[in-house]
Amino acid sequence: MKRIGILGGTFNPIHISHILIARAAFNELALDRVIFMPSKNPPHKQDLDVASDDDRMNMVRFAIEDEPGFEASGLELNREGLTYTSDTLKILNETYPEAKFYFIIGGDSLASFPHWHEPDQILRRCALVCVGRAITDNSLIRNKIAKIRTMFSTGDFTPEIYFVNAPQSDISSYMIRKYISYDISILGLTKPAVSDYIFKTRLYRSSVYDEFMMKMESLLSPHRFTHVKNVAKTAVKLARTYNADMDKAYIAGLLHDCAKYLDDEQMLQVAEEYNIELEEVEKASLQLVHAKIGAVFAREVYGIEDEDILNAIRYHTTGRPNMSLLEKIIYIADYIEPGRKRDISDPQAARMLELARSFASVDLDQTLKYILKETYDYLVNKTDYAISDMTRKAYEFYKDI
Ligand code: FE
Ligand code: FE
Repeated sequence: MKRIGILGGTFNPIHISHILIARAAFNELALDRVIFMPSKNPPHKQDLDVASDDDRMNMVRFAIEDEPGFEASGLELNREGLTYTSDTLKILNETYPEAKFYFIIGGDSLASFPHWHEPDQILRRCALVCVGRAITDNSLIRNKIAKIRTMFSTGDFTPEIYFVNAPQSDISSYMIRKYISYDISILGLTKPAVSDYIFKTRLYRSSVYDEFMMKMESLLSPHRFTHVKNVAKTAVKLARTYNADMDKAYIAGLLHDCAKYLDDEQMLQVAEEYNIELEEVEKASLQLVHAKIGAVFAREVYGIEDEDILNAIRYHTTGRPNMSLLEKIIYIADYIEPGRKRDISDPQAARMLELARSFASVDLDQTLKYILKETYDYLVNKTDYAISDMTRKAYEFYKDI
């Protein structure tokens, strides 16, 4: 009897974790093959960011092209109406009477299994294979398996349920889609052939972000444009670490220097036009005003209405007392982005930058404190610039935390 594994999923997109799960089941249960079966776009996900059936199938094909024993099937995609797992398994059993099927599910899907359509029929038509994934406590899965086995056992029938340990991974299709929309590399998260396909077809790109990006590129110098892209990506990573809104972090990062292309005269002009109040320091060095004007442009030109995003842009150079999480993230990302360099003749400043970089993913407030202090000391000791009131207040607020 052929032993055939079935791995269903939206595969939106298929990623390395899917491959690892299938491989673990393939090896541990000595399967002859594993069939990847993309599911139809469920009605409740219709308006979300789900790629077309064709694209998802193509990506699956690319992902498994060099994987021995793996195949793709459009059985669920090609069926009309609702597709239930129990029906799929019925068709498979009828089509391949000489095969035994192993239906592979993630350990986290196990809890909902009794609520699936005809779970008892599913268990009679296949062996169930639960694969332990990241952050799931394996003993928890084993208990659930025992429970389901008892729940669906009858006098003459005991469900066949296996547990397979898969390498830990926190890759998700959701994160991959997000990363693509932010233009962050997905190297190592999918098979290269899948990344290539996504890149070529421009799947999961955001037209809004792409438009922002094009506008920034046309306005800013190449150097500044690289900087804003770096700040946006750094901000996304910090947002992920600190559970802040990644979209807001990305937008604020991308737009934080959106007024940086104005010369002094234009800064003054725009400040007057929008009644932006200027400190004496700002009147003396008008480039400082790019943050305040940036917030105005973000609203007027880019249609951003979220106050937190606008404040993150407004206070990205000075900081301020009691900053929001997003404000801190943008302030720090602006300072630590990978392209930022420090004058190496100033070892203290270079050290602070390295310190801030290594600290940013561990303690946001300490990082903020370091940067405020470095900036403050720099302004006090090494330049004849005056310090803006807002910077002084921010420094005073954070210096003792
Ligand atoms: Fe700036
Ligand atoms: Fe900047």
